Amino acid sequence: MRVTFAGVGEAFDELLPNTSLLVESGDSSILLDCGFTATCRFWSLATRPLDLDAVFVSHFHADHYFGLPALVVRSIEEGRTKRLTILGPNGIESRFNRLMELAYSNAMTKAKFEIFFIECVPGEDFKHSGFRFRFALNDHSMPCLAIRLDAGGKSLYYSGDGKPTDATVDLAEDCDLVVHEAFTLDEITLGHGDVGTSLEMARKSGAKACALVHMKRTIRHTMMDMIKMAIQTVPEVNAFVPEPGDVYEF
Ligand SMILES: [Zn+2]
Ligand SMILES: [Zn+2]
Repeated sequence: MRVTFAGVGEAFDELLPNTSLLVESGDSSILLDCGFTATCRFWSLATRPLDLDAVFVSHFHADHYFGLPALVVRSIEEGRTKRLTILGPNGIESRFNRLMELAYSNAMTKAKFEIFFIECVPGEDFKHSGFRFRFALNDHSMPCLAIRLDAGGKSLYYSGDGKPTDATVDLAEDCDLVVHEAFTLDEITLGHGDVGTSLEMARKSGAKACALVHMKRTIRHTMMDMIKMAIQTVPEVNAFVPEPGDVYEF
């Protein structure tokens, strides 16, 4: 499995694109979250962007799905013919249609590909596009799906936004890589993770490695030394803070 960090930022970071991961296994590929500043970076990093099988939306905050119109309309412009699957919480199809209507109305009439929608529900596992999908709910200000992907004997967990819950710790059990949001360093922010809690979640779940993303811009840009010190206090977890464009292969 190969994870390319297209973006690692929070919603409004002027330096880092919104958190978005391109996950590839064999010939299959899926983009996890697609915020308004992530799409163009995805396009610059993907070797075969028109072959993307699927996009997963963790929740309906704009920094996680308002990049969909740009992704879809660029795909139309560049002649995509392959069906695209869009997965997300309950209501994903109507959200996408409303977003497209506001952004580029009638663009879909020119599309030479179909879009297939899947509503994801915690506890309802399935296989699609070469991956096994599983979900659990995080503790966020709106329902947010954490996702586990398994393929080729490897496993990836991505938190989306929110604090870990018992269900997400179970979901991430023994994953090769946990990618977790860590919005703050140690202050308590309702509905968000922090560095210590996210590292502890990775330790409890037995993750082999942990990437911390979606950090509050003021913390990420000025307190990296303290973030790295916090990481060193949990030596059992092989944790790191990725940069956009970084690739992690396992
Ligand atoms: Zn977010
Ligand atoms: Zn959010």
